[in-house]
Amino acid sequence: MKVLGIDLGGTNVSMGVVNEEGKIVKKLTIETRVSDGFESVVQRISKASLKLIESIGGIDGVGVGSPGSIEHEHGIVRFSPNFPDWIDVPLASELEKRIGVKVVVENDANAFVVGEKWFGSGKGYTDIIGITLGTGVGGGVISNGQLLRGSTGIGAELGHIVVEPNGYMCGCGNHGCLETIASATGISRLAKEWKERYPKSSLADFSAKSVMKAAQAKDPLGLKVLERVSTALGIALGNLIHIFNPQLIVIGGGVSRAGEVLLSAVKRRTRENVMRSFWGTYEIVLSDLVDDAGIYGAASMGFEEIKSQSLEEKGV
Ligand SMILES: [Zn+2]
Repeated sequence: MKVLGIDLGGTNVSMGVVNEEGKIVKKLTIETRVSDGFESVVQRISKASLKLIESIGGIDGVGVGSPGSIEHEHGIVRFSPNFPDWIDVPLASELEKRIGVKVVVENDANAFVVGEKWFGSGKGYTDIIGITLGTGVGGGVISNGQLLRGSTGIGAELGHIVVEPNGYMCGCGNHGCLETIASATGISRLAKEWKERYPKSSLADFSAKSVMKAAQAKDPLGLKVLERVSTALGIALGNLIHIFNPQLIVIGGGVSRAGEVLLSAVKRRTRENVMRSFWGTYEIVLSDLVDDAGIYGAASMGFEEIKSQSLEEKGV
């Protein structure tokens, strides 16, 4: 069985055909060109999909991961900050019409945690929390084997848990959301704000990547930012552990490439925030799917759909 995973981003669309063993058989990246409008983007994604599908001789399903508020059941993008003019667009049906295979659409962070369950460190677990630290912060929760969507399908916005009540204004309108601190954008802003205080810092530029590299090298400014980031993540994860009692928390997204320096700080801060009865009940790991996590996540939604269809057919 093979599924095409489509990771829809503001700049690029990454596409990959994934088989059941979790191998990406073939990949392709195209530019999104959001400014061309919905119709044109759908057209180009469909064309590229058909090319991919033809080259590998057919597929069994298509999954799309998209940022924003997604109504999974009907495959509708309600609103996505990356695609300002996509309001209530029927993405799944429009793609389906052109590709000729069943298409399912899911929020990309929800897809991320399902991808971890199918192909990553979440294999075999029933209770998993996924957090993606990218330009923004996304999250997904699998509780008792089920992806948690909430009553209207837009739940688990973990990036908007408030960790600093009087903190920075977030794009969502609140102050002090996790996203304002632990996203690549937040990390970069903190480093810029504190640079005058750390004249001895050897920070090359203010990208999140450089800041985390500096923290690895024990640069004082890098460490200062890391402390604030890991404190924020520790508060958020502590709350999530108390609510969901997960077995596993997977951290992904570009910022997670910082590796051990980030992981150990987050583990320490999280432990400080959880009741002792929870100690030893959860693990925190970094995603090992990083570069292809978007494709794996999207594809895993297609596999979930095929699985639920076949259970339905069997009358389960
Ligand atoms: Zn927010």
